[in-house]
Amino acid sequence: MVYSITKITGEMPFCEVFLKGMAMDKWQKRFFDLARLVATWSKDPSSQVGAVIVDDKKRIVSVGFNGLPIGVKDTEERLNVRELKYELIVHAEANAILTAPKSVAGCTIYVYPYLPCSRCAGAIIQSGIKKVVVEDRPIPDRWLDNFNLAKTILTEAGVEVDILPINER
Ligand SMILES: [Zn+2]
Repeated sequence: MVYSITKITGEMPFCEVFLKGMAMDKWQKRFFDLARLVATWSKDPSSQVGAVIVDDKKRIVSVGFNGLPIGVKDTEERLNVRELKYELIVHAEANAILTAPKSVAGCTIYVYPYLPCSRCAGAIIQSGIKKVVVEDRPIPDRWLDNFNLAKTILTEAGVEVDILPINER
């Protein structure tokens, strides 16, 4: 269980200011809960990723999970042969951007469980998304370099990257 300091001490203004940008608020928790749910829709046997794009009024614009393109058959081979899978799977973040019914410029993307990869970071930048929010969970070694590259280019391009403490569920 993670308690915010405001919860423990009451509504002390100093603590609110101190915690701003650190603790996960009610809406951030909701969007991560949704991203986690959407991730379970993926048929990828080894990694399930979910992304939720919201606008500046906290309205959900699009969701996405990693999977084969619409209409492409998800055969055992395509989902289980790693080299083939990597060539075919559309990542959650790219799916959320590509299937959005309207422009996502100026929006925020919540991604579960990790940072976007460098390719998705490029798509995020090009789409005009202004902020990426992820939880601070340990990154598998094989992804570390790529995630660092993604974070570098996002920051370089002026996309804010918020890494929040994991919310206990
Ligand atoms: Zn990606």
